[in-house]
Amino acid sequence: MAKNSLSQLAGELKRFLQSCDEDEFVTTAAAPVKAAAEISRTPARETTPAVASAPAMKENSTLTIEFSARTAPRPAPPPTDNLQEKTPMLTTAQKQAALQELAETIKQCSRCPLGATRLNAVPGEGNVDTELMFIGEGPGYDEDRQGRPFVGRAGQLLDKMIAAMGLTREQVFIANIAKCHPMTDPQHPEKHGNDRAPNAGEIACCRKYLEQQIAIICPKYIVALGGVSAKALISDAKSLGALRGQFYNLHLDSVDLPRPVQILATFHPAALLRNPGWKKDAWKDLQLVMAKLGLKGASK
Ligand code: URA
Repeated sequence: MAKNSLSQLAGELKRFLQSCDEDEFVTTAAAPVKAAAEISRTPARETTPAVASAPAMKENSTLTIEFSARTAPRPAPPPTDNLQEKTPMLTTAQKQAALQELAETIKQCSRCPLGATRLNAVPGEGNVDTELMFIGEGPGYDEDRQGRPFVGRAGQLLDKMIAAMGLTREQVFIANIAKCHPMTDPQHPEKHGNDRAPNAGEIACCRKYLEQQIAIICPKYIVALGGVSAKALISDAKSLGALRGQFYNLHLDSVDLPRPVQILATFHPAALLRNPGWKKDAWKDLQLVMAKLGLKGASK
């Protein structure tokens, strides 16, 4: 890495540590760069996939993907940079149609009790051709009202984290493990501070939706936001602290992915709001993803 990049980074880190305003992230870092604009396009490093309909989806439905039995937690495989396509990717139009159909199914879903108490299901949103997905745990108060992921205070910080990477929210895809608002007191959905993490049953009910979203979009990288998301996606009972800092290969229960997808776990933005001192570690995590994506401002 060039010396001026290193000193730039050191300066950014210093400014970050000095500021640590709770709603800020690394606002000075990683000014939008050329590579950022390329994230939504077919990357130069990969071979152009043949266009074909979804291989794992049955005729007449873009949503029926069979699920195999869930296997035991898998040991962390070594990171791999070998991202060759195995099966064809969907076209943009096919992805949009499949995600739209999936979103309609999610909005009707009553597989778990959250379906009865939600105001709006929150399927997720963003660029269907992105290389990068962010996955949180589940909608909160604001998301339940708007039907969109990460639109409250945690969402504002997530936007800043994405901006610090040199990207915009519109260039990535944002989703959650659970698609409906888990509440501590479902009798009083109007209450603030009524959010909780989805439980194992709720996660299991929503799992097929998330797997389908990932298989349709097939990003190269997923950032799992927080321990609930990390553990659900990495299928490993380790703590977030133990999972952070390295990439894991994603294995879906239901489908073969068109190409390998890697996951990196980091802190949930809500946790960063509560513990601003963790932001520097979150930034280190994001820089690992930036380096993989060739985004400027990543430490090498
Ligand atoms: N927290 C989450 O995990 N997801 C959201 O969409 C909002 C807050």
